[in-house]
Amino acid sequence: MGLQGALQLLYPPQCISCSAPVQSDFGLCADCWRETPFVSGLVCDQCGVPLPGSDPTERALCDDCMTIARPWDRGRAALLYQGNARNLVLALKHGDRMDLARPASAWMARAAAPILTPGMMVVPVPLHWMRLFRRRYNQAALLSRAIAALARLEHCPDAILRKRSTGNQDGKTRDARFANLVGAFTVPKSREARVRDRDILLVDDVMTSGATFAAATEALFSAGARSVSVLALARVAKDG
Ligand SMILES: [Zn+2]
Ligand SMILES: [Zn+2]
Repeated sequence: MGLQGALQLLYPPQCISCSAPVQSDFGLCADCWRETPFVSGLVCDQCGVPLPGSDPTERALCDDCMTIARPWDRGRAALLYQGNARNLVLALKHGDRMDLARPASAWMARAAAPILTPGMMVVPVPLHWMRLFRRRYNQAALLSRAIAALARLEHCPDAILRKRSTGNQDGKTRDARFANLVGAFTVPKSREARVRDRDILLVDDVMTSGATFAAATEALFSAGARSVSVLALARVAKDG
């Protein structure tokens, strides 16, 4: 018996969501898989929300992306923020479940495959330092690091700085969310050279209104980024 076999006897693989026994590490059991709304089929090319229609090669936009100015180029999400996906996102964000970053980043890398380009640099949406201090880790940076490794792309965890705390966006109207984020991000002088003329993949755990992605994208363009695409673990859909 190899080391792997010995470890499996000591620590049999468990479902990452409900701890039921499963065949291999870092997976969901069949029940949890069914309860987790993975995005598939035709999606909005700017935010990744599923759209009616069957031709995934068609470039389609959802109503939100046709009415709200999206400064970035393309976007994808691995999950809809509903059901068990919501539990997983909250566990990663608040529950010290750093281990979830591994399966989550694999789902995200798969969702992002159509929008990845060679030479892209992967960048997380930053937390304000006060929130980072309380949480101890930035879940977006855990995800972006793993995605960069999987896709063999450069990772720059500190390309963007959150200049001020923007508080909790929950309960704010869409317009208030956008207003609250204006000018919240900047690319520090020390990172401008790495951002200039680069194609950037901007990573966050959840996309709700898109206000955070929009403000972070503007900061990257101010520093001379050539293009910005966005990738979320979960997209909040209007009916969700
Ligand atoms: Zn399970
Ligand atoms: Zn959209």
